[in-house]
Amino acid sequence: MPHKYHPESLMMTHGYKPELSEGAVKTPIFQTSTFVFQTAEEGKAFFEVAYGLREKGQDENLGLIYSRINNPNLEILEDRLCLWDQADDCAVFESGMSAISSVLLEFLKPGDLLIYSAPTYGGTDHFIHDLLKKIGVHSIAFRPEHTKADILKMIEDSGLADRLALIYVETPANPTNDLFDITLCAEIAQQYNDQSSGRKVFVAVDNTYMGPIWSQPLQLGADIVMYSATKYIGGHSDLIAGAVLGDAEVMQRVKTLRTFLGNMVSPHTAWLMLRSLETLKIRMEAQMNNAIKVADYLQEHPKVEKVHYLGCISEGTKAYELYKKQYSSPGAMVSFDIKGGEKEAFKFLNQLKLMKLAVSLGSTESLAQHPASMTHIGIAEEEKIEFGILPSLVRLSIGVENAEDIIWDIEQALEVV
Ligand SMILES: *Cc1c(COP(=O)(O)O)cnc(C)c1O
Repeated sequence: MPHKYHPESLMMTHGYKPELSEGAVKTPIFQTSTFVFQTAEEGKAFFEVAYGLREKGQDENLGLIYSRINNPNLEILEDRLCLWDQADDCAVFESGMSAISSVLLEFLKPGDLLIYSAPTYGGTDHFIHDLLKKIGVHSIAFRPEHTKADILKMIEDSGLADRLALIYVETPANPTNDLFDITLCAEIAQQYNDQSSGRKVFVAVDNTYMGPIWSQPLQLGADIVMYSATKYIGGHSDLIAGAVLGDAEVMQRVKTLRTFLGNMVSPHTAWLMLRSLETLKIRMEAQMNNAIKVADYLQEHPKVEKVHYLGCISEGTKAYELYKKQYSSPGAMVSFDIKGGEKEAFKFLNQLKLMKLAVSLGSTESLAQHPASMTHIGIAEEEKIEFGILPSLVRLSIGVENAEDIIWDIEQALEVV
């Protein structure tokens, strides 16, 4: 029996052949726009496959053509990302928004209905309400408290049930850590699938907060997984990138659109991500261990109203059941409501010394921000209140520093409030 390695054991080597690169132990950067064909016949064969004019032969590899279509750095990175999510294929993009908007454009067309979990990332929310609306895509938001029956009723009441095309889920939701049930969404999609007409409703999950280490949405019934790889996957606040994963059929569509939008990641950024993947698991685990301590500390603090952290969900609740079903960790994103409002939140943020006051998340350094006036400022005032994005809410992305130093920083900042 061949031994089956864990993904973290393969992040240094998988998909790379040193003998093709002078024996270099690390993947070089293939900083090239185009690739030389050995013969004209070979070039023709590569193009036939790349353009989908014929199926790839059994032992045939899609040869290298041009770096908008494929490049060794991108291909090795995509092969490695597939291991965590157990996906057939992956496509890496120049940003998380690029990955998300490409999925929305590929799986929705004018007149279609999109249902999506709310709140969702500010950029995604804007894309749904601006560009998708402009091209005639209808959308309905659902909330964590909505049951399957509630969501089915929303779809039926819209009068567009026959045009439902995509269910978009971001879980845990940024910045509140609200949880949504991926399997429930897959069950809803199933009800509208129709084998005889070939109709399929797709379920797409933004897995940026918990993936790929602690959550595998494809195993829970999702069809498409998306990442802002800028966050944990990149993990060092030094690059912008995105990724989409799914089965071969889904990825054929995503990769074809990427070829013609031209929004693939650059070889250099892909190379940086290959380096990042080697430490992904140990970084995320160190961040989680720190976050558990930070959340415990905040929960006991008299100036803190409420801590929004997966590890703080009360046992015996529906949310707790879902947390345990969907995730293998409480994660490293901790939001909390400070007693008071914007004034108190700003005092706290301005006083931080070790943690940086910046948006983004998932990096080695701890970051703090104020969602209501920063990442989620574009959301309508009444929706902010409904979603719990209050003036008192502070979002922390916990890094790999020593937990005692992070807690010292929070303590001295809360002191001045
Ligand atoms: C940051 C983020 C995005 C957007 O990704 P970019 O890489 O900034 O384009 C999408 N979804 C979530 C949950 C995010 O945190």
